[in-house]
Amino acid sequence: MTDALHFINGEYTKGTSGRTFDNFSPVTGEKIGVVHEGLKPEVDAAVAAARAALKGPWGRMTMAERTAMLYAVADEINRRFDDFLDAEILDTGKPRSLASHVDIPRGAANFKVFADTVKNVPTETFHLDTPDGAGALNYGVRKPKGVIAVISPWNLPLLLMTWKVGPALACGNTVVVKPSEETPLTTALLGEVMNTVGVPKGVFNVVHGFGPDSAGAFLTAHPDVDGITFTGETRTGEIIVQSAAIGLRHVSMECGGKNAGIVFADADMDKAIEGTMRSAFANCGQVCLGTERVYVERPIFDDFVARLKAQTEQLILGKPDDPDTSLGPLISKEHQAKVLSYMKLAVEEGATVVTGGGIPDMPGDLANGAWVQPTIWTGLPETARVIKEEVFGPVCHVTPFDTEAEVIAMANDTNYGLATAIWTENLSKAHRVAAQIDVGIAWVNSWFLRDLRTAFGGTKHSGIGREGGVHSLEFYTELTNICVKL
Ligand code: NAD
Repeated sequence: MTDALHFINGEYTKGTSGRTFDNFSPVTGEKIGVVHEGLKPEVDAAVAAARAALKGPWGRMTMAERTAMLYAVADEINRRFDDFLDAEILDTGKPRSLASHVDIPRGAANFKVFADTVKNVPTETFHLDTPDGAGALNYGVRKPKGVIAVISPWNLPLLLMTWKVGPALACGNTVVVKPSEETPLTTALLGEVMNTVGVPKGVFNVVHGFGPDSAGAFLTAHPDVDGITFTGETRTGEIIVQSAAIGLRHVSMECGGKNAGIVFADADMDKAIEGTMRSAFANCGQVCLGTERVYVERPIFDDFVARLKAQTEQLILGKPDDPDTSLGPLISKEHQAKVLSYMKLAVEEGATVVTGGGIPDMPGDLANGAWVQPTIWTGLPETARVIKEEVFGPVCHVTPFDTEAEVIAMANDTNYGLATAIWTENLSKAHRVAAQIDVGIAWVNSWFLRDLRTAFGGTKHSGIGREGGVHSLEFYTELTNICVKL
């Protein structure tokens, strides 16, 4: 059994709420441990510790000392790579091959990338003419924002949490993290790393729990939190923004998507199939950037669907440690029920099920896990709910198109605006189309290729703001202009 405790002011604690909830394996449905639930007292203690730490040794550290400490955090995560890997796999059930290549290394790298960023980003200066001819010099100084609340999701737990904790600490803030109730273990484990490396008490705090009437809501409503950075569903983001309105607290919102893949007839078919397979099914489709709508130019539509079907039917669902496994389960039975409800809805809305569409037969102890079949649909009208709503599972719908203008219009006909992947060997077309899709990131002949120095975020219902590289500084610091009359 692996239990998850809060980490407050440098110490692990069960808190005082006396409330716990069970953590279940998505692979087998078995109980793997209990999670201690934080309520107002735990959140108050964590925020107070974070506030005090701003004035302690952390606040007095030089940038060189602070960034060296973040390098040490990354190195310590890498030294304990297998502990993080085991914890992440226990919570999520994702294949070891995936978590060892993406979740843990990227989770560690976030600390180094943002340590480098803060050391290398200049601030602006302006010389202003004045009537006396002497002039004035303006220059910007960046200061930490203060106590940052980090609310993170379950799909890439360590990676998406450190994507926020890394820049927050690099900029000199302190944090209180509320990880997803589904995946508490790697966030809790990070407390050990902070202590080993000597990060001062109170700089990094963790309170477990749910959203409403639990740690998430208490934390985001806390008046002593200066900024809230969130990754999760758009619906949840809307609630958090309302909370943040009290006291005009700054928010960074990374929310849902309903991303389009666009495959032109001149695409390299092998690349387009390989990329679409990953974008639709990686992490069992539980990636915000994943492709749930694929638009394929009509001359290659039948061939594309046939090849996608053939490859999808070769995916192997199985245990995380089996080297042959290409797909794990969904995160939970609740999420399985949601994805299955969309599979039923797709049929009701008139979809042709090309492959999948239900629960696979899983052997032995896997029978009770949160498994679903990777699924491809065709034949739905663009107005169907399955085309409009985020499913967040291993599913995609493939629609034919005839013209560039038509596919741009269909790709943009959504409330979301997170990502797109465009497949074409025509360079002019690639640039032209990419610029017209209303998203935060447009890939050409690739998917999930991320340079962490670049802006990341979504338009429309997919979010507010951009993080990544220098853009993270806009959220994690306050910029003061100093105007010196010469
Ligand atoms: P979720 O919104 O259900 O939960 C996210 C976090 O918010 C959890 O920690 C949860 O406990 C907390 N929460 C829930 N209600 C709250 C409330 N009222 N107040 C405060 N906190 C609350 O999302 P999820 O199911 O964990 O994650 C999947 C979603 O995340 C998908 O919509 C996906 O697209 C999105 N996502 C977006 C990005 C991105 O970068 N844009 C990345 C990954 C996931």
